[in-house]
Order: sequence, then structure tokens, then C-alpha cells
Amino acid sequence: MRNNLDRLGLDNRKPQDDNSAVSTSALSFVVPTEIVELPSKGMFYPPEHPLHGKDTLEIRYMTAKDEDTLTNQSLLKKGLALEKVLQDIIIDKSILLDDVLIGDKNAIIVAARKSAYGAEYETKVTCPSCGKVQQHLFDLNECSVTEPVDLSTLEEQDVKMTEWGTFLISLPVSKLVVELKLLTSKDETFLAKKIREAQQNKKEIDSVLSTQLRMMIKSINAVSDNKLIAEAVSMLPARDSIKIRHIYKLIAPTLDLSHDFQCRSCQEETRLEVPFTADFFWPKWAIPTTGLWTILHSKVSWRMVIYRSLQPSNRT
Ligand SMILES: [Zn+2]
Repeated sequence: MRNNLDRLGLDNRKPQDDNSAVSTSALSFVVPTEIVELPSKGMFYPPEHPLHGKDTLEIRYMTAKDEDTLTNQSLLKKGLALEKVLQDIIIDKSILLDDVLIGDKNAIIVAARKSAYGAEYETKVTCPSCGKVQQHLFDLNECSVTEPVDLSTLEEQDVKMTEWGTFLISLPVSKLVVELKLLTSKDETFLAKKIREAQQNKKEIDSVLSTQLRMMIKSINAVSDNKLIAEAVSMLPARDSIKIRHIYKLIAPTLDLSHDFQCRSCQEETRLEVPFTADFFWPKWAIPTTGLWTILHSKVSWRMVIYRSLQPSNRT
């Protein structure tokens, strides 16, 4: 964390920007900022992106106004409350949250949570061994950034990184060359909406997984037409789609959310991932309304479904 006084007057935010209002009254003070380490190290952003080559990002601490945004009913119904706050706390306004990679977004979420409510996170977990539900205290300081993939090891698997931060993969069965892109916050929001709709209509989650696969593919044999890609993906041999998912998990930058856990009932020791349940951003003492609680809870769980599906399988 560092004080951001040195920055004032230098940035080009518009006067009507919410963030600048904080420091203009008689009781003015500067909201502290902090530096978030990015799991991507800026490696997978195209050259024109403001995060290209940057391994950190500066955010300001959350304020009471951000808490209002988090609990704004209309934003919550659209599933956009958390996204709005995250966008607001990013200091560099040329960075659009929509374009931020999911692993980096998770690092911002954890940092913002720590600055607002502290690193201790108490929530309910289920013991994977005996099924006993219990309270568990996580220390968010233990969430660590996983080192990005060693690019030289990718060549052995017929994978090449392009200068735009995408990856070319030669598929074993169809022999197609697929250009893979890492999913962003915008893709995640879209997928969350799809999952919500699928569950409301009691449809299989399979269609969401193939949507996810399509979104990861930027082009096939240099053809980038969405309709043609969708057709090709639906006919892809299983071994090819497994290779795409395997490579994706290998290259996607992640924040390691796993923590040591010992069950109080059966004493089994294991690693558990920090569950992003509603109390993550909205500790129970901060949210008195039950109805709101339910909405928040469902919004956060959708995110976790997506994030888990993108995690290396040895960590799920
Ligand atoms: Zn147990």
C-alpha cells in the first residue's frame, strides 16, 4: 500500500468522476491505494492494452459508496454490482475491467476484500472426506499468485504464443490449428448469465461448457467467423477438445486459492479452496436484509463455477 498524494493532479479523471469527490470537501482525505500483483504478469495482453507487460495494478481502498454500489438492487439483478465496484477502484481509468483476464480479476477481488474487511474470512465449508459442514477461518494472505507457464515448455506440446497474447495449438486428431485466447471479465459475465439461464430452464450445464470452449477459440485455421467456429467446435473430436482444455488450464494465469484444512470431526487434513460465497464480499454483519443476501449469494456462486472449470484439475 502507498499513499496516493503524489498522484493527485496528475491523473486525467473527469471532474464528475465519483472517485475524485472524496478529496474535495473540507474534511478531505486521500483514500489509500494499494498495488495488486497480477497473476498474468501482463504477459497475455495485446501490445495496445494498458496492462501489456505490467505485473501490477493500483487500486484504491473500497469506501462506503462502493458498499452502496455492491448492494444496489438494480445492479445486482443485472449481475453487475461487483464489476461496477471493481471498475471504480482501478486507478488507471484507461484499464477496462471487461478486458482484464479472469485470473487477474480474482487477484483484484481478493485485494479489495482484504482492504475492506481484512484478510480473515470466516465461512461455512463441507469436509470433502466426511461431509461435515463447519465454520472455517481462511487467511486470505495465503492466496498466492501462481507463476505463469514457462513458454519454452509449450513448444514441446505444439503450442506457440503469438505477439497478441493468444496461443496457436495444433490439434492431434483433426489436425486443425486453433488460436486460443484467455477469457476476460466480460467473457466471465457472459458465461455467468448463460449458467443462470441454463439453471432457470433446467437445461444441462454441457451447453455452457461448449459455449465456454467456443469463447476460448479466437480462430481455427485462421478463420475467425463465429458461426463457422461454432460449427467446427460442435464436431471437434473429444481428444482435440480435451487438448484445448488441457492447454488452457496450463496457460491461464491463476491466483492459488487453496488453503490447509483440518476437519474438526474426522481430523482429516486436506487442501480446500477459498469458497467465494456471499460472505466473501458481504460479511453477514454488513448485510442485514435476507432477500438481498440470497441475490448476492447466487451472483457470487456463478463466478466460482466458471473459475473452478478453468483451474488446473489438480487443484479442484
Ligand atoms: Zn471430516
